[in-house]
Amino acid sequence: MTAELSGSELAAGIRAEVAAAAVELAAAGTPPRLAVVVATADESSAWYVRSIARAAERTGIACTVVDLGETATPDRIRAELAALSADPAVHGIILQTPLPADAVVEDLAASIDPAKDVDGANPLSLGRLAAGLPAFAPATAEAVLALLDHHGIPLSGASAVVVGRSTVVGKPAALLLLQRDTTVTVCHSRTKDLAEVTRSADVLVAAVGRPELITAEYVAEGAVVIDVGTNPAPDGGLVGDVDARSVSGRAAGLTPVPGGVGPVTTALLLRHTVDSARR
Ligand code: NAP
Repeated sequence: MTAELSGSELAAGIRAEVAAAAVELAAAGTPPRLAVVVATADESSAWYVRSIARAAERTGIACTVVDLGETATPDRIRAELAALSADPAVHGIILQTPLPADAVVEDLAASIDPAKDVDGANPLSLGRLAAGLPAFAPATAEAVLALLDHHGIPLSGASAVVVGRSTVVGKPAALLLLQRDTTVTVCHSRTKDLAEVTRSADVLVAAVGRPELITAEYVAEGAVVIDVGTNPAPDGGLVGDVDARSVSGRAAGLTPVPGGVGPVTTALLLRHTVDSARR
């Protein structure tokens, strides 16, 4: 049997904790505020931003969406991030992707104050994470570890394979897994014999952006599989990077899409915002 490693209960617990902290902070004169900077007309990005804003407001965090338009220049985006970083009423800043073609997210995110970098996008945050220093980790990568812990998956000494090496998910997830004493292998589009490598994993993290790429032949009997993928499905819904039907019965556990990594990611962004406001 493959257990469903849901993120709903964990996310609800984090949101409840955040809501209590937001009440305390507001009473102490520091109402927490999150700012999301947008420079795209992309519909799925707009959907994601609306869902963050809704979740923030439900937990008592004010959320300002700064829409600079899809023609915003890198300098304009940089200036906005610097202004929000200098604004004492703002505690968390997210730079939403995609960005205009001439903008490089890692470059622009360097203008986010690391103390307010609640999605770990500033390269300084990733560097600190790699060095084992305190920093906000990218929320999606942290959600992977939070889900593994919530479901009691032992990590020390385990073999972990991460498919995907993006700065926002694959690399930070690998760093966090390494910090927890797993032996980590990172795969990407040039990896030879991907299925052979992924079959060596006790814990397999799929962060590829390829709908249902990971089928039973990629998964060892009894492995735990975390599906980070959120790909648009033909019916308008979401489909993961893992073919849930194929791996069912082979994996020991699998996160659902939707309802796995996604809600935990959003809840952690809110937790980071109250943590920043507390400081
Ligand atoms: P990305 O920047 O496009 O990176 C994808 C990675 O997968 C790259 O490293 C790429 O390799 C690798 N890859 C692509 N095709 C492959 C293949 N056939 N075999 C092996 N590796 C392959 O994507 P991302 O931003 O990391 O996002 C990954 C997925 O997570 C997407 O579905 C995204 O929507 C989802 N996501 C979910 C959340 C959430 O909160 N649930 C948050 C962020 C992202 P190269 O480096 O060689 O190109």
